Amino acid sequence: LSSSMRWKRVLLKVSGKSLMSDHAQNVDPEIIGVIGREVASATRLGIEVAIMVGGGNFFQGSTWISSGVLDRASADHIGMMATVMNSIFLQASLENAGVETRIQTAYKITEIAEPYIRHRAIRHLEKGRVVIFGAGIGNPYFTTDTAAALRAAEINAEVVLKATNFDGIFDSDPKLNAEAIVHDHISYGDAAAKGSAIIDISAITLCQENSIPVVIFNLNGPGNISKALSGERIGTYIDQ
Ligand code: UDP
Repeated sequence: LSSSMRWKRVLLKVSGKSLMSDHAQNVDPEIIGVIGREVASATRLGIEVAIMVGGGNFFQGSTWISSGVLDRASADHIGMMATVMNSIFLQASLENAGVETRIQTAYKITEIAEPYIRHRAIRHLEKGRVVIFGAGIGNPYFTTDTAAALRAAEINAEVVLKATNFDGIFDSDPKLNAEAIVHDHISYGDAAAKGSAIIDISAITLCQENSIPVVIFNLNGPGNISKALSGERIGTYIDQ
């Protein structure tokens, strides 16, 4: 793992919660602006960026399932629609930063987005456009982490970069242990064992099966997104 490593095509996963920060609204305009600008500069350097965005800032399915009002599939459909709202925010932010962007959704909402078409997504990337994937993979019982891993494999992304509010995967629970440190490099197996609160195990498994490394990093911090996109060492690097 050299510091000069440079990705050609990446899948950036942005979790919904990380868009919120401690802002009273669902999306922090400052964070969304930073993401737009940093992704824009990466594309200008020739890095092809596809984004899978979560929805946890608008809707937490788990809360509603336990309320007895919604069944899992219905809650998941609302969750997927939440990711479409975030997709529109990200698109606006990227276009403000001067980058052409296409949203592709896993189910059809053709007034605002293209349907997901693999070859078309790849073509957009080759032309320097950012592709934002909305609605995960369109199926309940999945998460946007797993959707990120799946789309990364489909579009031949070299890496999944997961932007979160955590610095990476810790060796012990940082809430319980003040000395906890972030692993800079661990195996898929150890990531599944220690990092399941930060990334879905099914996403890790899918990346492992397809030999796609994963980077878990904190998007809060000057230049962090740019560092991750350009292949600088940041957060936790997960591979064999
Ligand atoms: N979801 C789904 N299928 C998918 C992707 C997402 O059903 O392929 C639903 C699921 O309810 C999930 C929600 O959409 O909880 C929002 O995504 P996620 O929780 O992964 O977002 P994040 O935690 O990253 O904000």
